[in-house]
Amino acid sequence: SAAFSQAFIDMPRPERPLNVAVIGAGLAGLSCAKYLSDAGHKPIVLEARDVLGGKVSAWQDKDGDWIETGLHIFFGAYPNVNQMFTELGIRDRLQWKSHSMIFAMPGQQTADGFQRFSRFEFPALLPAPLNGLVAILLNNEMLTFPEKIQFGIGLLPAILFGQKYVEECDSLTVSQWMKKQGVPDRVNDEVFIAMAKALNFIDPENLSMTVVLTALNRFLQETHGSKMAFLDGPPPTRLCQPMADYMLERGGELRMEQRISSILLNDDKTVKGLKMQDGSTVVADAYVSTMPVDILKLMLPQEWKPMPYFEKLNGLNGVPVINIHMWFDRKLTTVDHLLFSRSPLLSVYADMSLTCNGYRDDDKSMLELVFAPAKDWIGKPDEAIIEATMEELYRLFPNELNKDGSGAKLLKSAVVKTPLSVYEATAGRELYRPVQTSPISNFFLAGCFTKQKYLASMEGATFSGKLAAKALSDAAIAGTIPLEKAASAVAA
Ligand code: FAD
Repeated sequence: SAAFSQAFIDMPRPERPLNVAVIGAGLAGLSCAKYLSDAGHKPIVLEARDVLGGKVSAWQDKDGDWIETGLHIFFGAYPNVNQMFTELGIRDRLQWKSHSMIFAMPGQQTADGFQRFSRFEFPALLPAPLNGLVAILLNNEMLTFPEKIQFGIGLLPAILFGQKYVEECDSLTVSQWMKKQGVPDRVNDEVFIAMAKALNFIDPENLSMTVVLTALNRFLQETHGSKMAFLDGPPPTRLCQPMADYMLERGGELRMEQRISSILLNDDKTVKGLKMQDGSTVVADAYVSTMPVDILKLMLPQEWKPMPYFEKLNGLNGVPVINIHMWFDRKLTTVDHLLFSRSPLLSVYADMSLTCNGYRDDDKSMLELVFAPAKDWIGKPDEAIIEATMEELYRLFPNELNKDGSGAKLLKSAVVKTPLSVYEATAGRELYRPVQTSPISNFFLAGCFTKQKYLASMEGATFSGKLAAKALSDAAIAGTIPLEKAASAVAA
């Protein structure tokens, strides 16, 4: 990824910098804009909302506490995101945790009544894949030795046939794959329900096996692949603003609260301009959409809809998810890490008062919890969601929370619903993911749903933006972007 970044700086300088309208200031849009500016172009980022970040956006409540769209974890196996932190000079903002994966054991308690956790510890001195194998072999609380062996045998084709096999497995859900490979149901129930909910907010009966194998592949191939980090504060100020500043310092533009309402076309179906909600029009030499796929589909001009490239977007849909914040009057846990809840309604959670310096509190806990699958809950009132979450927390914190109110008290809560978040990675979706170069010569796509090898994630979004910037810069050098039309439109 460092070499890929350098390639933008080393590119032949364009005859004149292209004005590129980048729609959306999420990670894909900001990454695209950053690398376009490295290649000598002028990005103009148009963001609908008054906050940067899209699905990593965050804002303050009336008390000044931060509310986040999602609990976000960075992995060692995120080369482009880690490279971005390096290039922006903000690597110290990533707070790396011990190399472990920690699963809650709901309903099980230690001798002194506290919640039990089961840990997979990756030994620091061993390289991949040995560190992962030792982590799995040394954990005997969740899986028996024969179950681990059966799962290991099931994984052999992935190890032997690599990426080709990983991609072929997109036709199967996680549950179907487990059955086919003869892996015991308990492996699914003990580990993969939690894993599937963490990876895509859905259950293993629906999730594509390609998603799990892609993650496992990275974790088993890279020594620090599964190491996790928390950002040291809210993503808009700690990550997105530095990304925006980088391109602003190099002549780029950022226009907030600028929602595009339609894409205007020339007779040859290339983009003529963007109609904005306030009635104005934005004209550029080239355009990159980083809007989420559900919004992009609504925005497609009639003339583009029958084209196979755009038609297949109909195979992608956002998945609902809910992010919950709960402030308690005392500390509920001392675990400074991400926790897999393994409970029916919740996916992962963390005590952000410990994991994140920016939210540090030595006396109280602020739990951030991902509520998934959320399809049956997304339409319910916040109070009902908090009540159901509390029921799960009584089992997760048997010693600290009591139904009679004698334990820790909930001071306040905040519920953030995202009805259409990342694309739902059910079996067979890979075919529908579009590459960054579209059949329209001055229109490119980025966003975590577009084709790249890192799933729908912060890494996927950042990498997709970089790929779109590369495709566009190459097209500019090759002279395939129709510049005269844009120039005359600007003049007009
Ligand atoms: P977005 O962030 O959706 O950006 C699109 C932007 O386009 C938005 O800013 C939007 O406002 C703007 N836009 C939309 N319409 C218009 C319009 N008409 N005009 C102008 N602008 C417009 N990933 C991880 O790697 N690790 C995690 O732990 C993790 N946890 C998550 C937890 C939750 C609850 C959620 C919701 C997501 C999580 N993700 C995680 C996924 C990650 O957040 C996304 O994959 C990534 O942020 C998507 O970035 P993007 O730029 O592709 O899209």
